[in-house]
Amino acid sequence: MINRRKWMQGIGLVAGAGLAAGCATQPESKTEVEGKPQSEEKKPKSGNLPLADYEPKSMLQVHETQVPRAKYPVIDFHTHISVSTKSEKGVELSPDRQYLGTDEECLAVMDRKNMRAMVNLTGGYEGGLKEAVDKYDRKHPGRFYTFCEPSYSHFKEPNYPKLQGDAIEQAHKDGARGLKILKTLGLYLRENITSGTLVKIDDPRFDPMWDACGQLKMPVAIHVSDPVAFFTPTDRFNERYEELNNHPDWSFHGADFPSNDQLIAARNRVFAKHPKTQFVTLHCGNFSENLANVSENLDRYPNMHVDIAARIGELGRQPFTSKKFFDKYQDRILFATDATPHGDEFPQQVFNDQLYEIYYRFLETDDEYFDYAPAKVPPQGRWRIYGIKLSDQILRKVYNGNAARALGVTI
Ligand SMILES: [Zn+2]
Repeated sequence: MINRRKWMQGIGLVAGAGLAAGCATQPESKTEVEGKPQSEEKKPKSGNLPLADYEPKSMLQVHETQVPRAKYPVIDFHTHISVSTKSEKGVELSPDRQYLGTDEECLAVMDRKNMRAMVNLTGGYEGGLKEAVDKYDRKHPGRFYTFCEPSYSHFKEPNYPKLQGDAIEQAHKDGARGLKILKTLGLYLRENITSGTLVKIDDPRFDPMWDACGQLKMPVAIHVSDPVAFFTPTDRFNERYEELNNHPDWSFHGADFPSNDQLIAARNRVFAKHPKTQFVTLHCGNFSENLANVSENLDRYPNMHVDIAARIGELGRQPFTSKKFFDKYQDRILFATDATPHGDEFPQQVFNDQLYEIYYRFLETDDEYFDYAPAKVPPQGRWRIYGIKLSDQILRKVYNGNAARALGVTI
């Protein structure tokens, strides 16, 4: 069995997100010792309460809406049901798949939550891809859509550009509905695959791959960069300090890593060079901290779309700006969560009922100040979110219309 945590961290699947393990695993029993009242035992000396022990309970009393089912059928455009069995230094090296959840357990949650379909982005390539398509898509038509991935394990082979372009065609024949690019490209893949200089996102060796996707009408789900706090020092000014402190390998500050700006600029050059290829930039273009920037790029590149996976924490802390963003780009925003069956270590993306209820609450209600993840301590930063209560028309598009169009399916 692959170690899921290791895999998710290794390939950077965890979209700049993670459980502040030190916080969430604090034993409850510490608060009550030998019958002494909690207040005596835990009473902090002034300034001496460790951040990891801090679990403030909100005293705010406001309306709480339960949203057990989405108002309209949902396509979750960003999930991970299958993953590579082998990865090294952030690069997947095997087409073989490990499965994180069975079709039956996925369908049970989907039916309860009014989810029509799940897009499994990490379907891999070659035999692994075929197997994943058979196990889910073909067995349950209309409920699962599997994407393929580049075969970086062949990167050093002569003629890789053509080989990778042809591989997309083959993947399409094998049932892949799109191409997934992990943040491997830009942050992990190197000239000698796991060593040497980093390969740039707009490296021309990938041009045939982008073009093949355009010709075959396969959308490219592309993860570029990460939360901008991951590119700044892990110090007392970092708003995601706890997360980074628990996962130092998620920091891209220093070393030979490009900056967030450089990564996004390289990504944009790909959009400009391949206007017939449709790109869905995952995690809200990975710049949901700066929706003005995302908007600017959406205006500039008509082939750019965004998903909201693992970013309601960001969107929900700026509800007024987000609502305007959804109004303006209602035809280009796709519902997505980054859900991973049994991904309990990363509560902001664990595939369960509670996660979907939070997303629905964010999109459908104007509830105030609630948790963006099913976790004791907010895992991506210590704040809470506000609902944006989208209109029915926008909800329909975000829940399924935009994804159905990208996938070329009807719902
Ligand atoms: Zn993901």
